Amino acid sequence: METIINYFETIPSQHRSIILVGGLTLFWLLEGAVPLFKFKYNKWKHAIPNFFFTLTTIIINFALAFLLLKSADWVVANDFGIINWLPEMPLWLYVVLGILLMDFIGAYLAHYVEHKVKPLWMVHLVHHTDHKVDTTTANRHHPLESLIRYTFTLAGVFIIGAPMGIVMLYQSMSLVATQFTHANIKLPKKVDMALSYFLISPDMHKIHHHYVLPYTDSNYGNIFSIWDRLFGTYMYMDREKLVYGVDVFPDEVKNGNVVELLKQPFQKYQKPTILPGETE
Ligand SMILES: [Zn+2]
Repeated sequence: METIINYFETIPSQHRSIILVGGLTLFWLLEGAVPLFKFKYNKWKHAIPNFFFTLTTIIINFALAFLLLKSADWVVANDFGIINWLPEMPLWLYVVLGILLMDFIGAYLAHYVEHKVKPLWMVHLVHHTDHKVDTTTANRHHPLESLIRYTFTLAGVFIIGAPMGIVMLYQSMSLVATQFTHANIKLPKKVDMALSYFLISPDMHKIHHHYVLPYTDSNYGNIFSIWDRLFGTYMYMDREKLVYGVDVFPDEVKNGNVVELLKQPFQKYQKPTILPGETE
């Protein structure tokens, strides 16, 4: 465990790129072998905006990395934050707790707030306006969203008291986990369901990408599904019934255009669809 943490403490950006490209390639190939939906699309053309937003996310995280590093070093030096205030514990438990809490504050909570606070939702919409969810959708985040998520991660480091080794281990796990949950792949239903008791499974996250409420406002989790299960935000629907996108921005052509997507958070949106039996 110590070796793992030491490695992630100073993980070279080259290795992080290998994880990003390696994961992307693996799931891209699996999408060809066991697709969930047989999309009629040009995979590369569809990937252009998603790659663009992956790149802006990398640039923002890279530019602000020093702040994360300084904060993580500070909490360790000052014994600050939840995992440092708890009684002495074995390293493995310290790491597991750190990872779980990073997933809660830096991901679940950030995502939940993005869905509940209007201006943040407008920014997060870009992630939801993909009509063909596949592994490239994982990092389709407006640059403003990258900043919002970065802020939550930074706050998480202080509250949790996470050292850089845990932060980087979490981010690397998160990268592959989101490529997996967005991938257009089909696991046997029973396997997917069994997985969803502890981890976010591909089907579970796809339900979050269904185009209407209340499904859009469910399954906020990133790596672990325990937070959705614990806070009652878990929902299920049959994967055959899934329709991707979001009702308030239905124009698929615009939703595939980088310039339109950059402007999306500041644009007027359509009235949300009210499903029969639902009230506003
Ligand atoms: Zn979302």
